[in-house]
Amino acid sequence: MQHVLDAIQANASAEAFADLTIPDSYRAVHVLRSEQEMWKGVATRDKDPRRSLHIGEVPTPAVAPDEVYLAVMASSINFNTVWTSIFEPVSTFGPLARLARESEWAKRHDQPYQVVGSDAAGVVLQVGSAVRNWRPGDRVTVHCNHVDDQDHSAHDDSMVAANQRIWGYETNFGGLAELAVVKANQLMPKPAHLTWEEAAVNALCNSTSYRMLVGRNGARMKQGDVVLIWGATGGIGAYATQYVLNGGGIPVCMVSSEAKASILRRMGVQHIIDRTAAGYQFWKAGPDGGPEGVQDESEWRRLGKDIRDLCGEDPDIVFEHPGRSTFGASMYVAKRGGTIVTCAATSGFTMEFDNRHFWMRSKRLIGSHFANYKEAWEANRLVCKGMIHPVLSQVFTLDATGEAAYQVHHNVHEGKIAVLALAPAPGQGVTDEVLRAEVADRLDWFRR
Ligand code: NAP
Repeated sequence: MQHVLDAIQANASAEAFADLTIPDSYRAVHVLRSEQEMWKGVATRDKDPRRSLHIGEVPTPAVAPDEVYLAVMASSINFNTVWTSIFEPVSTFGPLARLARESEWAKRHDQPYQVVGSDAAGVVLQVGSAVRNWRPGDRVTVHCNHVDDQDHSAHDDSMVAANQRIWGYETNFGGLAELAVVKANQLMPKPAHLTWEEAAVNALCNSTSYRMLVGRNGARMKQGDVVLIWGATGGIGAYATQYVLNGGGIPVCMVSSEAKASILRRMGVQHIIDRTAAGYQFWKAGPDGGPEGVQDESEWRRLGKDIRDLCGEDPDIVFEHPGRSTFGASMYVAKRGGTIVTCAATSGFTMEFDNRHFWMRSKRLIGSHFANYKEAWEANRLVCKGMIHPVLSQVFTLDATGEAAYQVHHNVHEGKIAVLALAPAPGQGVTDEVLRAEVADRLDWFRR
């Protein structure tokens, strides 16, 4: 891929990019179908992505008429790569086999390996015959909503399309690689003031938080809303915090350490709760010290009181994703008429809550998954304008992807971790130094 890198660094013409030879194989981070049973009997936290994420050459697939080949300069770790690598809640080879049944082109996705990764920033190489809006040489970021736009169900909100999938998680040929195959309707302009690695970390988490809080399909936050944000320095939480601050809301940010609290203070957050220091026990402990399977309403009330002590009110909106461990508390502490918006269940998928506090107080629960193209585009537009900022803490090489995923699995990271693919070093790819200088102090909020 050196010839591709040379063309990118020389800022070659569209024609020159279109003439570049696409190699027969490329380096990619992948999991193997032959290993999908490898974690049988192993506890979730002991499943180690460093063992199941492999880095090596895979064959280059053909590109469909509505797709492009992308030279990936950088990608990022999302929690879905952790899920894939630990084969939880299910192995992703099942969804790939189902996708393969949909069309001739879709058959490519069913391979003995899956190239993972749901973020990328890079340069368009060749475009399929039906691609109209993008040209070889375009610098882009990629959002991960993979939909068949010939299906009628994709044309109101594509996130509820019958065949909606997440690229690099429920499809093959994802972004943690030197080359990727991407539908043209996943492409968005690369923010010119950002480096490749800064540009690569935003799309998945930023778009998810945009839809949950700002877009018309989520909680539709308004000025003055109190928003409780779990994991406020995590991947999605760090963008949620920015949306609440930008939108005139009042964030109440939950984190688990003083180091994370200090990041929030740098961002301008006033109301912060350290859940480790507070020691909430929403689930009662059983005789063996493990959770007994019963929740403790007095602990929900203690959290509610802590929030009121900080800002004088209950939350209008709860930004929920930890799932089983916090969901009962989230449903309880939301204000009368308030909204709980959820996109995940990191700690467990089966939720339990006391419905009396929900219906008697006329609350709303909204399920939200990633973002449609319009929402992702709007979220990216805010990054391009320097109004939302990447929350990049660390940069790894492609070879060290397993270690990066391990850190996210064990919650020893902050914000987002980027992975360099073709970019030979961090710090490259900026074409708007003026805007960069204007927002420079905000680009370092999360840097270790
Ligand atoms: P992340 O970077 O790991 O951040 C999550 C944060 O949540 C952690 O840093 C932690 O913060 C907090 N947390 C984790 N477990 C918790 C628990 N048991 N109780 C309270 N807080 C807990 O992950 P992320 O990228 O933000 O993603 C979060 C979840 O959303 C994942 O399950 C991911 O798969 C999902 N997700 C879904 C979508 C979608 O489209 N549906 C999109 C993006 C992400 P503290 O330790 O500081 O409290």
